[in-house]
Amino acid sequence: MSLRMPAPDPAVLSARAEVIKGLRRILENDGVIGDDESLIAYESDGLTAYRQLPLAVALPRTTQQVAQILRFCRERGVKVVARGAGTSLSGGALPLADGVILGLSRFNRVLDIDLENRVVVAQPGVTNLGITEAVKKHGFYYAPDPSSQIACSIGGNVAENSGGVHCLKYGLTTNNVLGVELVTMDGEILRLGGKTLDAPGYDLLGIINGSEGMLGVITEVTVRILPRPQHARAALLGFPSVEAAGQCVADIIGGGIVPAGMEMMDRLATLAAEEFLHVGYPLDVEAVLIVEADGIDAECDHVLALVNDIATKNGAVFSRLSNSEDERLRFWAGRKSAFPAVGRLSPDYYCMDGTIPRGRLAHVLQRMNEMSERYGLRVANVFHAGDGNLHPLILYNANEPGQLERAEAFGAEILRLCVEVGGVLTGEHGVGVEKRDLMPEMFSEIDLAQQMRVKCAFDPEGLLNPGKVFPQLHRCAELGRVHVHAGRVAHPELPRF
Ligand SMILES: Cc1cc2nc3c(=O)[nH]c(=O)nc-3n(C[C@H](O)[C@H](O)[C@H](O)COP(=O)(O)OP(=O)(O)OC[C@H]3O[C@@H](n4cnc5c(N)ncnc54)[C@H](O)[C@@H]3O)c2cc1C
Repeated sequence: MSLRMPAPDPAVLSARAEVIKGLRRILENDGVIGDDESLIAYESDGLTAYRQLPLAVALPRTTQQVAQILRFCRERGVKVVARGAGTSLSGGALPLADGVILGLSRFNRVLDIDLENRVVVAQPGVTNLGITEAVKKHGFYYAPDPSSQIACSIGGNVAENSGGVHCLKYGLTTNNVLGVELVTMDGEILRLGGKTLDAPGYDLLGIINGSEGMLGVITEVTVRILPRPQHARAALLGFPSVEAAGQCVADIIGGGIVPAGMEMMDRLATLAAEEFLHVGYPLDVEAVLIVEADGIDAECDHVLALVNDIATKNGAVFSRLSNSEDERLRFWAGRKSAFPAVGRLSPDYYCMDGTIPRGRLAHVLQRMNEMSERYGLRVANVFHAGDGNLHPLILYNANEPGQLERAEAFGAEILRLCVEVGGVLTGEHGVGVEKRDLMPEMFSEIDLAQQMRVKCAFDPEGLLNPGKVFPQLHRCAELGRVHVHAGRVAHPELPRF
């Protein structure tokens, strides 16, 4: 592991048996995992380059049990990492050697389907797709649709503020979550928001969206559901250059059109997806764009006609409209399988996630190609084009010494470039451990200190998911006023990584 994590607390490590015993007093017999062999299942999340066995895993079933576990861990100074389905791509759910993994997989029930208010109340371990499945017979669905939706949990979606293909029109998780129940490290149970559109007081719910398991453990989520659009149609467009496709995206958005989804793949990603699923993507183009319109039939036709005109003006050499629901789903199947498809091209790939102003796409891609040559590693590009959210997939072989480090350096340079052109370090995968040390590229020390003060207000001892998001560990008491006298820092025993 090339990233430094907080040094494990030897006192907690040596009290492991006692911690496991204490957790077993709170949970039923099968609710605690303490043997190394079984813990291997939890050693990593979607950022598989990083692995660490946790101290133990606790699998509660009720909010009261979560509160008891957090109180118990706090009293003993034991760190806690919440975990949904473990699909995070930024290492957000990476365990700590002296920390308990608090797994929410047993919180798997939809609690309330309220069609009158168009909301669903669900436990955090329900999968993203599970919410849509629960309401589909009533003609509703849950709009944010990460490609991992079959597996990722709604609690994890809130913690990462996840996005997906249809977030261009319907918003990210934060725009679709109305309320949460949250347990703090003190074991206090808070309810933020609810079924109504807006709640009085500070927007604490806004802070919880994207909080990466660092402020509290989400034990219930209330989401908005939408009536399924009457129709949806997609256009599959091919361009002779990525620049032309990028310009087409900018012109569509600039023209005031808001498609339901607009995704781009470069040549390498398109070839991989086509070889994997045979969905009918053109193979003689440099970039493919999928643009979807939804609503009543006339609206779909109108939007796609406008899109087609703009594409033609930008030199599109391939254009096909979906003629059936089956064909539309086929267009998307290739895009949604782009990650596993690219996974077949190389033993390993490293998926980056950064956002840029849409108009800088061509420039960023050209710089990325230069980097690809310099690092000697191929890169396939998949974009949520409408949002300017890039997902470069850097291909490498972990068994070749030095390739992982090269891939990471390449990825970091891409993210620095995103910031340089006016974008941000992450679009939807979170900061986790992956982008932690790049945070100062984007935020000043003052910005970071203010964000850490929010963390301190919820978790003053820094026991919830430490080592993630913030590049430097501060004691809350000394935040923002570190005094260095004659070269000597106060509290030298604190790990500063
Ligand atoms: C193939 C693939 C495709 C993907 N595609 C997308 C995509 O299109 N869009 C996208 O946004 N992401 C995508 N992801 C990333 C990932 O699926 C999302 O970040 C997802 O929201 C993580 O959910 P999870 O349940 O797996 O959370 P985990 O990985 O278990 O945890 C993620 C973070 O959330 C915290 N957390 C989890 N549950 C809770 C809780 N109940 N309370 C408090 N904190 C909690 C954890 O501590 C951790 O910091 C993809 C991942 C994969 C593997």
